[in-house]
Amino acid sequence: MDIKKLDFKSIYFDLYELNTGIYAAISAEKLPSSNAGFFDLGNHLIIFDTIMDPYATEDLIKASKLFTKKDPSFLINSHYHWDHLFGNRKFPIEIPIISCSETLSMYNKNFEDTLKRFRGIATQELKRIKEEVEKETNSDKILEMNNDIKTYNEILEPNFKLRSPDFIINDSIIIEGTENKVQIIYIGDAHTPGDMIAYFEKEKIVFMGDLLFEETDPNWATTSDPAPVPANPQRLCDTLINYMEKDIDIYIPGHGKISSKKILQENVEFFEKHFINK
Ligand SMILES: [Zn+2]
Repeated sequence: MDIKKLDFKSIYFDLYELNTGIYAAISAEKLPSSNAGFFDLGNHLIIFDTIMDPYATEDLIKASKLFTKKDPSFLINSHYHWDHLFGNRKFPIEIPIISCSETLSMYNKNFEDTLKRFRGIATQELKRIKEEVEKETNSDKILEMNNDIKTYNEILEPNFKLRSPDFIINDSIIIEGTENKVQIIYIGDAHTPGDMIAYFEKEKIVFMGDLLFEETDPNWATTSDPAPVPANPQRLCDTLINYMEKDIDIYIPGHGKISSKKILQENVEFFEKHFINK
């Protein structure tokens, strides 16, 4: 089946059906926003990652309902970075959030600092966005900015809470649905201390999380921002090579457009040059 771009209006992402029941939400903006997916397995709807913006996550939930006529059975967090789990709190508490234990422990370790960082810039950002929204005429941009204002105000509330993963698995699992089957593969430390990816062997599709970026940036080698610096560059490259050699046609990166083997090759060369043979 050819990739189908679906008719769904979101200011945050474009929605694609990659194969029957396998959907990818590809962020309209490359960074800091991220990609996500949802999988209709027949008897289960599985969401793979949320999106940085909580309103983008609301659109993701809306799209998943519209196209699958189902409520989610599980949410999976590929890794602990906030741009992939900031939308967790949009899911009802009875829906399990699956991750590996490293994701949960890194989340717990970094939660207070990350929240403090966001709160630290919130007042200044609120001022900037409010000034910009006054001048803006594009209705989509105005909506996005007003949503950002709500998000920063929410972050500033003293009892602001995210939902952490609560269904912890340190191995690969297979979810055998009545229509589709997905392998949730535990990679271990690569991009972060614990990464998971979603693999559809028959359909030749893999959701790589942040093990794959459509575009890389040499500045990552010298940045003080730890997010793009791999926890284990060797395992990251080995994993990319392993998945490049498999019979796979469609690679969904954590950030950027739908990718091919060529992008994996570029990522391997980039991480080897800047983080292994530096
Ligand atoms: Zn990440």
